[in-house]
Amino acid sequence: MNEHDSERMAGILESQGFVPAASAEDAEMVILNTCSIRDKAEQKFYSELGRLAHLKGRGGNKVTIAVAGCIAQQEGEKLLSRTPSVDMVIGPSDIARLSAMIEKKRDLGRPVVETGGDPEYHRRLVPASRTDGLKAWVSIMYGCDNFCTYCVVPYLRGRERSRPPRDIVAEVRVLGEQGYREITLLGQNVNSYGKGLQEPCTFPELLRRVQDADGIERVRFVTSHPRDLSDALIDAIRDLTKVCESIHLPVQSGADRVLASMNRRYTSAEYRDKVQKLRKAVPDMVITTDIIVGFPGETADDFACTLRLLQEVEYDNIFAFKYSKRTHTKALGIPGHLAEEVKEERLAQVLELQKGISLRKNEHHIGSVQEVLVEGASKKGGMLTGRTRGNKSVNFPGPVHLRGSLVNVRIIAAGPNSLSGELCV
Ligand code: SAM
Ligand code: SF4
Repeated sequence: MNEHDSERMAGILESQGFVPAASAEDAEMVILNTCSIRDKAEQKFYSELGRLAHLKGRGGNKVTIAVAGCIAQQEGEKLLSRTPSVDMVIGPSDIARLSAMIEKKRDLGRPVVETGGDPEYHRRLVPASRTDGLKAWVSIMYGCDNFCTYCVVPYLRGRERSRPPRDIVAEVRVLGEQGYREITLLGQNVNSYGKGLQEPCTFPELLRRVQDADGIERVRFVTSHPRDLSDALIDAIRDLTKVCESIHLPVQSGADRVLASMNRRYTSAEYRDKVQKLRKAVPDMVITTDIIVGFPGETADDFACTLRLLQEVEYDNIFAFKYSKRTHTKALGIPGHLAEEVKEERLAQVLELQKGISLRKNEHHIGSVQEVLVEGASKKGGMLTGRTRGNKSVNFPGPVHLRGSLVNVRIIAAGPNSLSGELCV
């Protein structure tokens, strides 16, 4: 989502006549688009800002430093006093005001802050500067209403707002005309798309509408909250030919006690049930997830439930994180915060277990023929790289002019993170 926000800010700047600079040293303006989902992301921002601050002023360098994204929203005005090198602070729902802010800063000659949140942002048509040419992200909604107790997103990105379906469909049609072959619909919880729309539309209906766009061959979406994974969505994945057989379905924990304390509003049995339904409807469904280890109060037994769930569900891949304390969130007040070493140890166990599962899942593909969207030359010399409908990376020998084509590849080998194959002729 942040990367796509960056594309939108670049789109606004390019519409104002700006062009990309080769490096921060050459730039007139640098925007740091920040994330504060975990402490590590926040620390990365402060060290990068330190590096840029060092650059500023040296040899008369007058670069404008702007901070965007969730840290901008979280810190607001405070960023100016704490970090004097910052000239602009812009919240994630204020992006459409970027050019006005640049002018204001020029006119006033002092730093400007815009974090009030534009109430009409979801109805604005903000240009995006996309460079991939094949795969594009399309935001369908902003914010989140779920208030999981560990998560800062609802506080920083605001309440859930859906973009009008006709704006989304129009954007996808243009992408198809421009030669894009794959789109990924973005939202914190795409399954609940449609709340408060003037023109009613559910997420399965939206999928149906976007897949009609000429030129687009594949439709993906992230992220799905398990509680809102409806039978209608499962049917849409089964029936709509362009909607790929892959879903990111974050479970977070395998222990009911922890899930309740996280305010996820499903039990592990309900989650397993949804996975079963998905696999019954679409047998080769690729399922990935997010796991948080070391949530406050997580006991050794709770953690064992998470390991058991991983063994049972057999995800194709997971993203696992150590619980990180976040400002505003309710989990800060939950008793039983765990020591860093315990979290480290649990994270290592989860990753080790999953490595074997991912390898086994990938090995199942050996001998099968997969439809691959060719993305171009692989980092390995002389090879092409692309993705299956299940979003698995495949390397295979072939000519570079195949970029952008859908080809059939027979899988001949598998590792935990990718597949290797040969073109079927
Ligand atoms: N909306 C999506 C959802 O509910 O799954 C994803 C939101 S978040 C950007 C991505 C992942 O970051 C979450 O699924 C969760 O695993 C992780 N995460 C969020 N807050 C966290 C925290 N305080 N500590 C560790 N991981 C966190
Ligand atoms: Fe955060 Fe939960 Fe919303 Fe995802 S659903 S963004 S984890 S509050």
